[in-house]
Amino acid sequence: MGDLSPTFSSLNKMYTSNLVIKVASLCNLNCTYCYVYNMGDDSYRKQPKFMSQEVIEAMLYKIKDNCIDNNLNEFFIIFHGGEPLLAGIDFYRDFVNTQKKIIPNNILIEYSMQSNGTLLTDEWVTVLKELNIQVGISIDGSPSSNNTNRIYHNGKGSYDDIVRGFKIVKKIYGDEMANCLCVIDTTQKASEVYTHFKKLGVNSVHFLFQDFNYIKSSQEDVPKVGKWLIEMFNLWYADTDQIKPNVRPLTDLIALIFGKSRGTENFGNSINQTLVVQSDGSIETVDTLKICGNGFTDTVFNVLKDDLNVIYKESNLARMYYKSHDDLCNTCQNCPIEPVCGGGYLGHRFSKINLFDNPSIYCREIIELICHIQNEILNDMSIDAIQYSEIEYLNFNDVINSFPNSK
Ligand code: SF4
Ligand code: SF4
Repeated sequence: MGDLSPTFSSLNKMYTSNLVIKVASLCNLNCTYCYVYNMGDDSYRKQPKFMSQEVIEAMLYKIKDNCIDNNLNEFFIIFHGGEPLLAGIDFYRDFVNTQKKIIPNNILIEYSMQSNGTLLTDEWVTVLKELNIQVGISIDGSPSSNNTNRIYHNGKGSYDDIVRGFKIVKKIYGDEMANCLCVIDTTQKASEVYTHFKKLGVNSVHFLFQDFNYIKSSQEDVPKVGKWLIEMFNLWYADTDQIKPNVRPLTDLIALIFGKSRGTENFGNSINQTLVVQSDGSIETVDTLKICGNGFTDTVFNVLKDDLNVIYKESNLARMYYKSHDDLCNTCQNCPIEPVCGGGYLGHRFSKINLFDNPSIYCREIIELICHIQNEILNDMSIDAIQYSEIEYLNFNDVINSFPNSK
């Protein structure tokens, strides 16, 4: 890997407060854009299908040590896959029972799960609720988008099954827990997508960019998410309904424009404290970095023998992933909207030559979006409020022209 001078002393003090746990390495869907199966990484093949009891117990002891060593009284566990429901209901009952035996009850364990929802039943959701496991469902923006991209292994669309699962979550957990992730499909009209999510009664939808980086693509090749999200912003901002969804990343960006910190790995400058444990117990950084190459996220660390935080000290990849703001590329460091953008999602900055020393491949899209949101907000503010906030009107060309290589 590239230049990794040993100057990251702050990494030696880092610790995790969130673990994404890959309880199942396989999935009953085969989404076209899935970074686990369809973006060139096949490391899932060497993983056991499910996390074993031995790995679970070792991991829970490591979580306990991590919480005690770092004075944490709260820790977040996110069940993930593949499809986490493939592990079966008893897996979760046993997991929570084991956790209660191993981790002292003055440390609160907060559970959530990201699922494709297709396997959910009333029984499943009732048990998950009893175990205090919140469920987020991955639903794309329209029936046709789901049936084109979120497909079974035989090519059949999954929309009806996803929505059936989502409705069970909404019924049993209540409206305020009806949250979902949506990968942006710019072939779908933003207005139809917004209407779709409102009709489903979604409480919060988090729009994600499809994964691209500079290995095979350029900034010209990426989907035009800037214009698409601008249209989404305009619809959402003008929507006067009492009940309307929280739309991320728009609300994250508004908060960042006002100087608030946001715990997002896509924008801003907050420190990411999430690690991943694979089903064999391997400790990794976030696994979306699999888009950077086959085996890219592999490490030699495992909960069966290592502390969770060893990765911050010993892994070259973690040293790149958790670099500070000062380690952004020259263009980002000189970018006037960097405090809001933060350089974008790390995986979207990757090229074979510069590694992560690039602006996001979505840079132009992000500039367009942030300029629009910031200007629209300013249009609604009084002159006094504008002066107090110290926020200024932005111009797309001025931002681009401020980059060192534009001169
Ligand atoms: S549901 Fe998730 S894990 Fe399964 S194929 Fe789709 S994106 Fe990948
Ligand atoms: S140069 Fe692009 S990627 Fe970097 S901070 Fe600015 S908008 Fe974000």
